[in-house]
Amino acid sequence: MSGLRVREREMLELGMSLPALASRATAIASLPPLGLLTLAALTPEGWETTLHECEGGVGALAHRLALDRPDLVAISALTPSINDAYVLADALRAEGIRVVIGGLHATAMPHEVAEHADAAVIGDGEPVWPDLLGDAAADRLRPLYQAPRPFDLCSAPVPRFDLVDGRPRPRYTIQTARGCPLACDFCGASRLLGPFREKPVELIEQELSALTGAHGARTIELADDHTFVGRRDPLPLLAAFERAGVRWFTEADWRIGERPALLDRLAASGCVQVLIGVETLVPRHAGMGAKAAPLSRVMDAVAAIQDRGVAVIGCFVVGGDGEDFESLHALGEFLVEAPFADLQLTLETPFPGTGLRVRLGREGRLLRDRGWEACTLFDVAFRPDRMSVEQLESGFRNLVRMVFAHGPSGRRAKLRRRIWGRREEVL
Ligand code: SF4
Repeated sequence: MSGLRVREREMLELGMSLPALASRATAIASLPPLGLLTLAALTPEGWETTLHECEGGVGALAHRLALDRPDLVAISALTPSINDAYVLADALRAEGIRVVIGGLHATAMPHEVAEHADAAVIGDGEPVWPDLLGDAAADRLRPLYQAPRPFDLCSAPVPRFDLVDGRPRPRYTIQTARGCPLACDFCGASRLLGPFREKPVELIEQELSALTGAHGARTIELADDHTFVGRRDPLPLLAAFERAGVRWFTEADWRIGERPALLDRLAASGCVQVLIGVETLVPRHAGMGAKAAPLSRVMDAVAAIQDRGVAVIGCFVVGGDGEDFESLHALGEFLVEAPFADLQLTLETPFPGTGLRVRLGREGRLLRDRGWEACTLFDVAFRPDRMSVEQLESGFRNLVRMVFAHGPSGRRAKLRRRIWGRREEVL
């Protein structure tokens, strides 16, 4: 169960009317589900595994599965889609089909999830999956499974990409690292995914070869939370991508713009774009660590990356404490002119398991009546400190309209062409 979701009608209509947002939503929805494909690769002989994506709605999927009558259904869902996962799980269990649910939401809210599943998996699924299947075979599933230690990415299998149906995918996904050593208070990656770990380059190369061989993949989106933040030398990783001959993009932070050796090989490795969390014009979020720096230094780093033929998507989180109408307007004015090749704007969202949710809960500012469906990144799910909820909603919509209007979007498209045109010179 993947893809972007939006609860508020006006925001949904606006998003669908803006080509940049609509195409990103389509791309995300068509990414193969890496977590499930990885578990499939760890499934012992004797089990037959199939992959079902939630197309055509939960009811249709429940109906198809009820006809197939599998021994066990594993569901992966994030917070905005968790209620759909519960509807599916409840329907399957009513048919006598056992269900296990894992992922970030299950990790943060295992007891809630366990009410809708025969088993909930807390944290990494890989270490517990063979035991869980053994318990399912012996009909003794436990409500909660949690590995005693984080999964070692040195043991990561090549995901079962062969289970993905034959419809064309604009891009495939692989993971080179899991978690993040920073601790931005709005982000679950640093807390829920366990310690930051990197996958050995030889294993990454095997995955790339599986994707480019049988599947003909040419574009890869890394499922990393924060690439290049670890201590390892990035050059062998970049060389592996270069040998695979793919175009790829990922999420990193602006400090890669201050690493000339990395920048020298980034475009040559096939990297076309990096998403960089600038987050705010003035630091509003706790835990950003070294990412929180003067804007001029961040923008110099962005310019250095783009000078090397790699486009930067500037990512901003809107609505944190201290934000008001004036600061929203100032952000809009900055972004309309800012030299980012593209932009991503999301609302600050109190996802379960984050420091932000704990703090807002303590302060009585969570809009609990809006439910998990409001945790979409595009809906307001808490009471801001300097505006009403309605003011933040309309202020965010205005900001999105302003930044993604025809003029600024066209200017960024031209900038992207210029940046990518530079690649020949820098290679
Ligand atoms: S740097 Fe990125 S991945 Fe790391 S905690 Fe912050 S937002 Fe999350």
